[in-house]
Amino acid sequence: MAEIRIFSLARQLGLQSKALMAALAELGLEDVTPASAVDEDTARAAVELLAEQAQEARKAAQAAAEAQAEAAPQQQQKGEAAEAVAEEWEEEEYEPPVHPAELEAGLAELEQHLQRLRVEAQAEQADREAVKPLPELAARPQGPRPETAIEVPPVVTVLGHVDHGKTTLLDALRNTDVIATESGGITQHIGASEVAVDDKHIVFIDTPGHEAFTQMRARGAQVTDVAVLIVAADDGVMPQTVEAINHVKAAEVPLVVAINKIDLPEADIERIKQQLLDHELVPEEWGGDTIVVPVSALQREGLDELLEMLLLVAEVEELWADPEADMVAVVIESSLDESEGALATVLVRNGTLSVGDVVVCGTACGRVRRLRDWRGKSVKTMPPGHPVEVIGLSDVVEAGEIMQTAATLKEARQIAEQRQEQQREQKLAGGARRQLRHLYQELGTEEVKDLNIVLKADVWGSVEAMVSSLEQLNERLDEVDIEIVYTGVGELNESDVMMAVASDALILGFHVDATASVEQAAADEHIEIRTYDVIYEALNDIRKAMLGMLEPIYEERLVGEAQVLHLFSSSRVGVIAGCRITDGQLRRGSRMVVVRDSEQVFEGTLESLRHFDNDVASIDAPQECGVASSEFRDWQEGDIIRAYVQEEVPRTLE
Ligand code: GDP
Repeated sequence: MAEIRIFSLARQLGLQSKALMAALAELGLEDVTPASAVDEDTARAAVELLAEQAQEARKAAQAAAEAQAEAAPQQQQKGEAAEAVAEEWEEEEYEPPVHPAELEAGLAELEQHLQRLRVEAQAEQADREAVKPLPELAARPQGPRPETAIEVPPVVTVLGHVDHGKTTLLDALRNTDVIATESGGITQHIGASEVAVDDKHIVFIDTPGHEAFTQMRARGAQVTDVAVLIVAADDGVMPQTVEAINHVKAAEVPLVVAINKIDLPEADIERIKQQLLDHELVPEEWGGDTIVVPVSALQREGLDELLEMLLLVAEVEELWADPEADMVAVVIESSLDESEGALATVLVRNGTLSVGDVVVCGTACGRVRRLRDWRGKSVKTMPPGHPVEVIGLSDVVEAGEIMQTAATLKEARQIAEQRQEQQREQKLAGGARRQLRHLYQELGTEEVKDLNIVLKADVWGSVEAMVSSLEQLNERLDEVDIEIVYTGVGELNESDVMMAVASDALILGFHVDATASVEQAAADEHIEIRTYDVIYEALNDIRKAMLGMLEPIYEERLVGEAQVLHLFSSSRVGVIAGCRITDGQLRRGSRMVVVRDSEQVFEGTLESLRHFDNDVASIDAPQECGVASSEFRDWQEGDIIRAYVQEEVPRTLE
């Protein structure tokens, strides 16, 4: 539902935020500031209430004026300035600013504005849906389980340091399947494979490494249900192991550790477990909740236990899909084949994919000519939960892209072309991801204020120093949430950029640089990279960005005081208070308090302010002026007027 901030709604209606806030308070919305946003129903209710109140005030004013005209009161001696003010008022039709007609016009305008907001929101949503895959679509189906639902296998990704045995493990697992062994092993794979354990299956993504894992996530597709972190028993936790751990943690995916190469004489399982502790992975046998399985991918030792543990972890999640639902699949891999054209391995997430289906996938489309299962066997259909290779797409597509079905090839082409066009436009427009300077501009537009950070430094010491400084900064404020989604040591790389895309973060680097290719990747993805050599400077920038993200605080300030010298009556206005400003300044539109014998007799808006012939916005002491408010007619000579304004107070973190 579209939302609008109180001050901008008030501005549209030609009202003070305070007046609108008073109406909102009557509707039960008390803890609001001019910067608070209200939904359109609330806005409409408040405007209607104000319209009613104005109508009543007008009726009362008319009645009072008529009564006054009948009584024909004696005119009092007038001061020169005040007299001129009164005459001036008589000359033209005086309209109180809060007029039902104005409010009605305002209401109509508001309606139009809200309609515009709705249209914009819909267009934005459509853009997002068209250009980027919807993470919700790629996610596991939610909500009540339909009768036609079936259980689906968990999806597992293997991550770890180079040479620790990811490929060997995947090969070994792929070939544990009886059928696979019978056919002499799977040699040609499609990018994903399945392993059967009794009557259950596990799907393995064959592209190992956290780069692929995060790339998928960056595209909005989080397909992994369980991650296997592989650590070589002879080598231990290495930089890429740490990176992998952080990527998995950021994705909030459950993790099983496989300590590999236990066949080697120098293998030291206990040492590896010890190292894992440094990264908050406490093995189960030591009282933690990290499952650790020693394996030898080469000797095929411990693989059954690993599979069993993967099923155990996945069981908690109750994975299901509906073969009858609309088909949604996620691209795992895509390539160009000389004879067959574009190939795409997809994971069918929901619904069923069949030969002959018309599909759209990112900016590509086509009719499915052939489907191949993970063993390379042609199939007619593929139910949800399984990987399948699709032949028939017009183009190669990116990993993480969503595939859906369309009614006709014509429709599919239209959608694909539309997306191509949007992509071009987006490229030209330069995208709009989180950037530090944008955070400041986002003030007043974003409700939730998160500042996600990917942090890289040359040494762990700097990372730790920065993390604790940022945490301290974060603790001082409730409104903004700094989240360090990832920390790492070493030069900035493309995987950091993907991580930033995946978590809508900006990248902070200390004593580290980005190569031209990394900078290019960041520019393509509209990710901001900020590098520093001094922690203080980085903190300062963040502090500034956070200040920009904070809701402004408004404080009321007394700006002027005046004394009522004479009263004038006017058939149109009612009563005019001719005053002398004794201190400061009176401002039209400010909050006005009228004090008589030390008691407050009125509080409302200073609606009209005149100085001789002129309608003025403000007048300074010691001049004379005329003051009127449609809300107050009971003036007396000697009354003191105090004018207050709401002022934005700059926020500081100190
Ligand atoms: P990746 O870079 O993580 O994919 O690692 P690879 O699977 O390519 O393995 C790197 C090297 O370690 C290869 O020479 C493998 O044969 C070897 N290797 C993998 N697993 C084992 C194992 O369990 N025991 C031994 N001794 N060597 C292994």
